[in-house]
Amino acid sequence: MKILVINCGSSSLKYQLMDMEDESIIGKGLVERIGIPGSRIIHKVDGQEDYVVEEPMENHKDAIKYVFDALTHEKYGIVKSLDEITGIGHRVLHGGEKLSEPVIVTEEVKEIIRDHIKFGPLHNPGNLMGIEACEEIVPGKPNVAVFDTAFHQTMPDYVYMYPIPYEYYKKYAIRKYGFHGTSHKYISYRLPEIMGVDREDMNFVSLHLGNGSSLAAIRKGKVFDTSMGLTPLEGLEMGTRSGNVDPTVVTFLMEQENLTPQQMNEILNKKSGALGVSGLSSDFRDLEDAAHEGHERAELALDMFIIRVKRFLGAYIAELDGCDAIAFTGGIGENSKTIRHLVCKNLEHIGIELDQEKNDVRGKEALISTENSKVKIYVVPTNEELMIARDTKSLIS
Ligand code: AMP
Repeated sequence: MKILVINCGSSSLKYQLMDMEDESIIGKGLVERIGIPGSRIIHKVDGQEDYVVEEPMENHKDAIKYVFDALTHEKYGIVKSLDEITGIGHRVLHGGEKLSEPVIVTEEVKEIIRDHIKFGPLHNPGNLMGIEACEEIVPGKPNVAVFDTAFHQTMPDYVYMYPIPYEYYKKYAIRKYGFHGTSHKYISYRLPEIMGVDREDMNFVSLHLGNGSSLAAIRKGKVFDTSMGLTPLEGLEMGTRSGNVDPTVVTFLMEQENLTPQQMNEILNKKSGALGVSGLSSDFRDLEDAAHEGHERAELALDMFIIRVKRFLGAYIAELDGCDAIAFTGGIGENSKTIRHLVCKNLEHIGIELDQEKNDVRGKEALISTENSKVKIYVVPTNEELMIARDTKSLIS
């Protein structure tokens, strides 16, 4: 069975065709700069040169057409006909309260995605357009929507509610939803497998640290708490997102600088975080290099990131009633031994003891704690595409 996984970002689209017999990747690609001059598709298959087409692509529908052209291309294609693809799995950002599992796309599901554009204005429109383009170009092929929010729907009300007047929850469904759900879900299956324990028998903290970052406290396979909220802005300091600030900062700045809600959103989402503090870059590799060379604000941005990760980690260990492991994932979590070291530093008193030698790994599964560490520390590279493909397969089988 071949499953196509589509992940539409605000101006980009990633895709991957998977053979579910052995869960291998047949080919994958990326469409960049959708709706911006310079749109292009890069189609990659192991063992052959990349196929690159630069053509104007106004929207995600245009982009999907180029994806299907590449998949069936005479020379670079990986299927003879689109009939070979059994189903399509779509990553969708916001599914609100009604969707706690991946679902086959129906008119009702599309209405829910549309209804949550208010909370995911950068992603839900592209996600929806990607689904509608597939429906149009390959009619009758099952489309499955896998929501970033879904895995977090197990949080109890006293965790997901905000302490603001209850009527706003009733009126607008304002509450914590959480994101990176597909990544945390993948880790929630893979980590117990690696440890050789039943997922119902363990509690752990999943640390997804990347351009966007979130932690999830996972109790017996279910999310108990997570650091992102109504939108992916809450929680940790991120590449360009502020994460938590006193809400008064927002109203004060809007008044002082005469900012519209949209301008304020732009500042908090795109000009803050590590980029805003360092004034240099949102990329943690650049920041580590700059801090190493004495760039003070890069060092400050990194220190702020570390203390925030520690803050959530400590809180989640306290919330979990016993924590068996912590798992680092995401671009930073999988690759940066420095950041893993700084997060775990001086946490021996709560049972977290990193082995410096074992920590010298990049991008592969590894146990990196000492023999004595009560809480095991792991690196587990995430695989959101595989999770989406598995969910799609199980729904359409
Ligand atoms: P992601 O959003 O999960 O793709 O992660 C992207 C982030 O991971 C960027 O900030 C990268 O700089 C960071 N990253 C990737 N490799 C490394 C590394 N070796 N050291 C530090 N950060 C890294």
